[in-house]
Amino acid sequence: MTFLILVVFVLGLLIGSFLNCLIWRLHEDETILGRSYCPSCHHQLAWYDNIPLLSYSFLGGKCRYCHKKISIQYPAVELATGLLFALAFWVEASAMAIVPAFGANPFNFIFSPFSLFLLKDWFIIAVMMVVFIYDLRWYMILDKVTLPAMLVVIAFNLYFEFVLEYPLLTWRNWLISGIIGCSFFLMQFVATKGKGIGGGDLRLGLLMGLALGLPKLFVAIMLAYLVGAIVGLSLMAAGKKEWGSKLPLGVFLAPATVFALFYGEQIWQLLFPSIY
Ligand SMILES: [Zn+2]
Repeated sequence: MTFLILVVFVLGLLIGSFLNCLIWRLHEDETILGRSYCPSCHHQLAWYDNIPLLSYSFLGGKCRYCHKKISIQYPAVELATGLLFALAFWVEASAMAIVPAFGANPFNFIFSPFSLFLLKDWFIIAVMMVVFIYDLRWYMILDKVTLPAMLVVIAFNLYFEFVLEYPLLTWRNWLISGIIGCSFFLMQFVATKGKGIGGGDLRLGLLMGLALGLPKLFVAIMLAYLVGAIVGLSLMAAGKKEWGSKLPLGVFLAPATVFALFYGEQIWQLLFPSIY
C-alpha cells in the first residue's frame, strides 16, 4: 500500500505539472501540444527543466535561461495535486477494502472496474485545480473547462449506474443536485443583478452538483461560504479589501468541492444525523 501511494503521488506530481502548463495555455489560448517554454523568455524547456518539484528546487525557483523568478504556483500545484491524488487513492482503496471480493490487497482494487471511481476523483481534483488557479489569478471560470468537465462527469455517473451497476449516485440524485447547484447561484445572480455572481459561477455550481450529488453538494457550498466569509473578513480587518469588494468565488468553491468529495458524507452526518 505504501509503495502504491508513492507511485500515485508521483503520478499526481506529473499531472500537476501538466495542469500548470494547461492553465497557462488556456490563458494564452494555445493548444496543449508543443514543447513547454518559459512564460517570461519563451525559451524552450528541456526535459530536465520540467521535473516536478525537483527542477524548481534545483534551479532555486529561477528560469535557467533568463533567470526570472518562476511563480510559486508551479511547485505548489504539483505538490497539491500529488498529495490529493494520493489521498483519493487511499480513501477509495480503504473503502474497497471492506468489500470481501477485494480484500485488503489494493492491487485487487486497481485492476478492477471499480478503479474508475478513483479515476473520477482524480478527474474532479484536476478540474478543480484548474478552476482554483485560474480564478485566483484572472478572476474567471472558463466555460471551456467546466462544460467539457460536465460531460465527462455525467459519462462517469451513467457508466457506474448502468454498466457497472454500482451507482455512486443515482441519476435522480445527480440530476436534482445539478439543478440545485445551478439554481442556488442563479438566485444570487438575479438578486444581485449579476454583480456579485458571474455566469461562470452558475456553470461551476452545475458541475459541482453533477459531480458531488446530494448531500455532498450542500456541504461543499456551506464550507465555501464559511471559508469565504472568514477570509473576506480577515482581509478587511487587515485593510487589504474594502467592504463589498469582490472575492473570486471559484477560489472557495473549488477546494470545498474536493473536500466534500472525500468527507462530505461524514460532515453531513455530523451536522444533521437525523436527516441522514
Ligand atoms: Zn525564462
